[in-house]
Amino acid sequence: MASPAPDVVLIGGGVMSAHLGAMLKRLDPRLAIHVYEAAPDLARESSDGWNNAGTGHAGLCELNYTPPPAVAGAPVDVTKAVDIFARFEQSRQFWSYAVAHGLVARPADWIRAVPHLSFVRGGDRIAFLRARQAALAAHPFFRSMKFTAERDVLRRWAPLLVEGRDAEPIAATKVDAGTDVNFGELSRQLLGWLGAQEDCSVFTGHRVTRLHRAGEGWELTVRHTESGDSRPVRARFVFIGGGGGTIPLLQSTGLSVARGLAAFPIAGQWLVCENPDVVARHFAKAYGPPPRDSGALGGPHLDVRHLHGKRVLLFGPFATWTTKFLHGTGHFTDLPLSFRPDNLATLIRTGARNRVLVRFLVQQALQGMDSRVRALREFYPEARAADWRLVEAGIRVQALKSADAGRLYFGTEVVSAPDGTLAALLGASPGASVSAHIALQIIQTCFPQKIREPEGYARMKAMLPGFDRDLGQPSAAAEHLLQSGRTDEVLQLRPAEASP
Ligand SMILES: Cc1cc2nc3c(=O)[nH]c(=O)nc-3n(C[C@H](O)[C@H](O)[C@H](O)COP(=O)(O)OP(=O)(O)OC[C@H]3O[C@@H](n4cnc5c(N)ncnc54)[C@H](O)[C@@H]3O)c2cc1C
Repeated sequence: MASPAPDVVLIGGGVMSAHLGAMLKRLDPRLAIHVYEAAPDLARESSDGWNNAGTGHAGLCELNYTPPPAVAGAPVDVTKAVDIFARFEQSRQFWSYAVAHGLVARPADWIRAVPHLSFVRGGDRIAFLRARQAALAAHPFFRSMKFTAERDVLRRWAPLLVEGRDAEPIAATKVDAGTDVNFGELSRQLLGWLGAQEDCSVFTGHRVTRLHRAGEGWELTVRHTESGDSRPVRARFVFIGGGGGTIPLLQSTGLSVARGLAAFPIAGQWLVCENPDVVARHFAKAYGPPPRDSGALGGPHLDVRHLHGKRVLLFGPFATWTTKFLHGTGHFTDLPLSFRPDNLATLIRTGARNRVLVRFLVQQALQGMDSRVRALREFYPEARAADWRLVEAGIRVQALKSADAGRLYFGTEVVSAPDGTLAALLGASPGASVSAHIALQIIQTCFPQKIREPEGYARMKAMLPGFDRDLGQPSAAAEHLLQSGRTDEVLQLRPAEASP
């Protein structure tokens, strides 16, 4: 019988709880940890392989991390791309630790080397891409990034992007050391390991319905979704890693960070191709520029994916409208039920300030298959509609804060109780790729004493060797890269052999 008063409760069985749980247990093996997941299975929401793009976001191909300079000819600011690369390195370090210590099995089941390309059309964008590559390649992280505007080279990199295209100028950058990650499989393996540890349990089909202060920690109401029976569970520390389910739970805590907080769901869809003749001819993640009105939502991309032993192509994502916060266990009443007197002003102000984005989202949601295929043909001119079908992707629930005065930030943010007894994750991007960094942030904020003690420090160093350094500094970056060959070896990432 699991203890009714564990030290730590993690709400949600996705990639964030999986990383935090595994890291905390390795940091302090005495911790009793419970995970409560509302769905009958683990990691089937945003973390599931089909619900996200599986891109190991490292700033290699995503053009929204390096916005074009306001003044033409000014240097491209690469700060965000460097930062995301450094954060992704922490994930790679933790994953190689997890493989080496038996927390997860065969890396090939959840991570593969796949070239990351940025692909643009037209003179202005080509000039920007060239300047971006020059700015990035000056940093050790991006030294291997190649640029080409030559069709023959591009045809070798990604033939589908070139064949059948008219004479318009095109260009791309390429980094061979990109990755495709099945975050769902990784999460299930990490949580499987956690659930088998002493004093730890992972419960599926258990929804946390409420949270309130109790003693020095929190009391949760946990409902068994089949029987409907509820029971109280007390814990000294709670992490709300509920993805789309996080904001309603945070609202129930009464914490000041939740005051005025509103939620805005944006669902996604992919075009998927399983025709082996087509799939065999594209081996890259090719990202285009974000559409003009899409804010910082990110650009469309044509991706090779490895899901459940099968290679497929995905194109998208296309935004679509929903009032649900979760696919599996959400309800159409999720959005209206999240309205509170203290967040209506936030919602109205955000809607008014982002009319262009709202119009873009409405247009996206209303488009039919024809216009989706037209968008695909901007990447892959010879695409045949018959080879593609539409599937649902994940729902990102954007947190809107009153303090942001209507501005939208599409990043991820950890919020916590002032006494460090609760933390929650808001936002979706760069998301799963930086889950080790997010777990580290939570540990630094809520369990600082554990990494100050010599034993805890050594354990954290073993999991994340670079955790107490700024890896983005060029000297640290260069030194770090010298050692990263070992990580690639453990994760069985062989970029040179990756291209067909
Ligand atoms: C279209 C799309 C593409 C993306 N592409 C990428 C990408 O290429 N690379 C990348 O790194 N990231 C990507 N992301 C982001 C990434 O998917 C998320 O950041 C990440 O999966 C979030 O993980 P999570 O554990 O926080 O949430 P989830 O995986 O959604 O897990 C939350 C879990 O909590 C459970 N839950 C919710 N409420 C409760 C409750 N009250 N009680 C118990 N359980 C509850 C849910 O059932 C769910 O299983 C993408 C997201 C989308 C939507």
